[in-house]
Amino acid sequence: MSRAKQPDALELPESLRQRELEIAREIARAFLTASRPLEVYRLALARVTPLVDASFSSVFLRDPADPSLLKLVCAQNWPQSSARFLGQMRIRVGRGPTGRAVAEATPFEVEDVFAEPGLREWWDPAREMGFTSLMSLPLRNATEVVGALTFYFTGTRRFDANERLLLATVTDQLAATAERAELIERLVSENVRLERENGHLAARARDAEQARRVKTEFLHNVSEEMRAPLGSLVGYAEMLAEDPVGRLSAPQRSTVVKIERAASMLLRLVGDLVDLSDLRLGRASNQPSEQEAVALAERAVSAAGPPPDGVAFRIEQPDGPVPIVADGDKVARILENLVSNAFKFTARGEVVLAVRATPLIAPAQGRQVVVEWEVRDTGIGIARADQPWIFDEMRQVDGTSTRLYGGTGLGLALSRSLAQLLGGEIAVTSEEGTGSTFTLRLQTSIP
Ligand code: ADP
Repeated sequence: MSRAKQPDALELPESLRQRELEIAREIARAFLTASRPLEVYRLALARVTPLVDASFSSVFLRDPADPSLLKLVCAQNWPQSSARFLGQMRIRVGRGPTGRAVAEATPFEVEDVFAEPGLREWWDPAREMGFTSLMSLPLRNATEVVGALTFYFTGTRRFDANERLLLATVTDQLAATAERAELIERLVSENVRLERENGHLAARARDAEQARRVKTEFLHNVSEEMRAPLGSLVGYAEMLAEDPVGRLSAPQRSTVVKIERAASMLLRLVGDLVDLSDLRLGRASNQPSEQEAVALAERAVSAAGPPPDGVAFRIEQPDGPVPIVADGDKVARILENLVSNAFKFTARGEVVLAVRATPLIAPAQGRQVVVEWEVRDTGIGIARADQPWIFDEMRQVDGTSTRLYGGTGLGLALSRSLAQLLGGEIAVTSEEGTGSTFTLRLQTSIP
């Protein structure tokens, strides 16, 4: 061991090293038991002050309201005579030993206050509080000096290099510990805030869900009420249009046909609304049974009606039948919507409904097949930017009152919800001016 070298931890005399270990242990314990920075300081001061033989000690931290001032935040054995000042004690950064330790970011020690004329203004407080020497150490976190820890001693006190090292170690550990506690405190309070906010948001989401349900119920009930009278209206208009006794003039018949078409369209809208609200309210259920995929396609096509003039239509199908287990009504309903749309938005060229089946190799449960019904058209197509929202309720690419194509804007929303209920999906690819392809994909078991 060389005496000429700067002292370091390894060179501390046995007794000091013992003390340093004790101090480190006390600070670690303070950190473990204290959850708030002030508690860390308080516990550390209580344990360390007697270990360094100080008669009392203090921690001053920068005042958040005015960082050029230091505020006494905790003290150990603070003399009774000055206890009344505890709450209001402020020291300006740069003034006195504690203020200078902070300003200069370096320890400030005074062996004998009364021997230093420069500290004359501290003589009275020193006499009153009963200290002669002191050691003030800056508390540093990663970026700045946040305050100072000061030990006060009754008699004159000379510090040797080892003690300085020991005290510097104490302060560094204390500052780091307090900073961590402060971070934890901030995290905890942020957590509390987030939890509270989460609670509010959950309550708002519940309210919104409730309001949405009430609205959907209302829509459902109104649509149900409208269904029966509209059904009669369509029926009577159809009868009238047939004109069994031949009394209608040509303009009268054309008017009746218009009434019948408008009422049918309204009936479709109301039917879609009932079905969609049933789905939204969770009242619709998947009713699978044995079906044949091509037959379902044919059923949908006959419900959609004939293609427009100038548009060819065909079904592409595999060689044999495609037996599946699925809810046939719902599959046919989805395909009818897709084929009707293809007919509506195609003026020339062709519409193809292709049926494909891919058996799954080594399925987990039983024999399974992926069925795809693909409806391809050579119609107006859908711009890329519009594709994400065509499945939203009441959304149409051309939403203006002067639009060329009729419709309710519910067909695709209903189709997608039905597909989800069946455990399947609908995908779209399209190019504006060239055409669109809508694909219903379902994985089903093979009967
Ligand atoms: P609508 O009753 O208006 O057809 P849908 O929900 O079925 O309502 O479709 C929503 C919108 O998606 C349509 O208004 C149209 O803009 C667009 N769309 C749907 N299918 C096609 C298609 N095959 N070709 C071009 N656009 C389509």
